[in-house]
Amino acid sequence: MKNARDLTISFARNFIEFLFPSSCPICGTPVSTNGELCADCWAAFNWIGNPKCEKCGYPFPADLDLGAHPMCPNCAAGCCELDFIRSACVYDDASRAVMLPFKHSGRIKYAEFMSRAMIWALRDSDIKPDVIIPVPLAYRRLFHRGYNQATLLARPISKAMNVRMDLDSVRRKYRADMGHKNAAQRAENIRGVFHVVTPEKIRGKKILIIDDVMTTGATFAELGRVLKHAGASEVYGLTFCRVVRAI
Ligand SMILES: [Zn+2]
Ligand SMILES: [Zn+2]
Repeated sequence: MKNARDLTISFARNFIEFLFPSSCPICGTPVSTNGELCADCWAAFNWIGNPKCEKCGYPFPADLDLGAHPMCPNCAAGCCELDFIRSACVYDDASRAVMLPFKHSGRIKYAEFMSRAMIWALRDSDIKPDVIIPVPLAYRRLFHRGYNQATLLARPISKAMNVRMDLDSVRRKYRADMGHKNAAQRAENIRGVFHVVTPEKIRGKKILIIDDVMTTGATFAELGRVLKHAGASEVYGLTFCRVVRAI
């Protein structure tokens, strides 16, 4: 039976929905739940299912049968710095159309469906992180943009998983933009930018790092390396989308 407080909350929610009916954050079509995509917008994304690399989440062609524990060549060679990576969808025209305004034009209302999709991307995993760390922005970039898009995604994920979010333990130095660089140049450009300021909060912890997009994996690899150097026991990565190149 509902108590008086629950009834008040549900009345308030109904009243708010009456005043502001739920609509798809991308196209504005009415939807039943606030923050949810309509069926057409949902279908436009290339959501990552199976088969995929069980370690780094790299999606394989659907007709490829790699057995019960598929692994990509990079992970099989032990080249993945992180213990586990998942992304909700592939970086393509549909995800680019939400990523760019989300990152650069203040479309922060997209964070709700993006973070929901990211939680859904963990559905077949049994990771139990102790701490969630959004990939930090350099202060100069944070100052200009006004928000860290990774933090906007990490906050609802931290709440849904009931895992503490840590925004203070890692700092990032400013470096000029990495756009249009190849994998080796990106790895070189990001080397040394992260710094753990409170290693005592990292030591022995299983850490889930969160970002909006995984391009070459250089950011995750470098942050993972720095966290492990500071004593993290395991490091996992989660992004909304990832660039998928043939490997
Ligand atoms: Zn829509
Ligand atoms: Zn892999």
